[in-house]
Amino acid sequence: MALLIDGKRISAEIKDETKAKVAELKEQGVEISLAVVQVGDNPASCVYVRNKKKACEYVGIKSVSHELPEETTEEELLNLIEELNNDDTINGILVQLPLPKHMDENKVIDAISPYKDVDGFHLMNVGALSTGQKGFVSCTPYGIIQLLKRSNIEIAGKHCVVIGRSNIVGKPMSMLLLRENGTVTVVHSKTQNMKEITKQADILVVAIGKPKFVDDTFIKEGAVVIDVGINRDEDNKICGDVDFEKVEPKTSAITPVPGGVGPMTIAMLMNNCLESYYLCKAKTTK
Ligand code: NAP
Repeated sequence: MALLIDGKRISAEIKDETKAKVAELKEQGVEISLAVVQVGDNPASCVYVRNKKKACEYVGIKSVSHELPEETTEEELLNLIEELNNDDTINGILVQLPLPKHMDENKVIDAISPYKDVDGFHLMNVGALSTGQKGFVSCTPYGIIQLLKRSNIEIAGKHCVVIGRSNIVGKPMSMLLLRENGTVTVVHSKTQNMKEITKQADILVVAIGKPKFVDDTFIKEGAVVIDVGINRDEDNKICGDVDFEKVEPKTSAITPVPGGVGPMTIAMLMNNCLESYYLCKAKTTK
């Protein structure tokens, strides 16, 4: 039987570790704070923002909310970011995506100080990841590395195949697996004979956004399968990009949806908020 990689347990473990370190800093008179900026009231964003604030409360990080109306101009948002960049009481800045259509997301993300970019989306942090330097790492792929390590799954020397090449999951995932000495292949919508490649994977990470797209015909016997997808199936139930029922019997370990990768994203965000304190400190003592 496959090992069910328990994201709920592992994320709780990480949040508790962060909580203990945040409490230690509090005793030294240091308070970690995260500015959470939301523009408009996209219902999914409201849920994500609420969950992030709840997690902050749990680990003892102060969250400072900036809820801006949908019609906020890009300039107004950039001015707020500039203020937060210069505010020494703020360690991390999170701008909830997606932004309204009249805003340039890349421009907004790159306006955030790279030392406060807890989502790890800033060009400088993306560059740091690809060159093996210190910086913030995008929370979902970072969480997947933690899932693998804390489940004692070896990455070094393994053939890791990532399906999907988005900036927030697929690409940083491939860089992280490479950093862990995996042999990495990335496949995407233009890849030919995709199954031939995925069937060579010792570790298969699936991040495409299509309900139950990957079935047993994509899988090598004994593979580890990580399902990043969060979709709704025909009965409106949450499901992943992997057809769990068909795939699980062929794997040695697999993440469920829900309860696998999902809870890790917020746990790693909390970890990054704590990390932001040390990065800001390193910057100011340079
Ligand atoms: P995305 O930006 O839409 O990217 C999807 C990627 O999948 C693209 O690179 C695309 O290829 C590739 N793709 C699409 N159809 C394909 C096919 N038939 N064969 C091979 N590749 C295909 O999505 P994302 O942001 O990476 O998210 C992926 C999934 O993860 C979604 O379900 C999302 O909800 C979920 N997600 C979960 C978390 C979490 O916390 N658990 C976080 C982020 C995302 P091209 O580049 O060629 O178009």
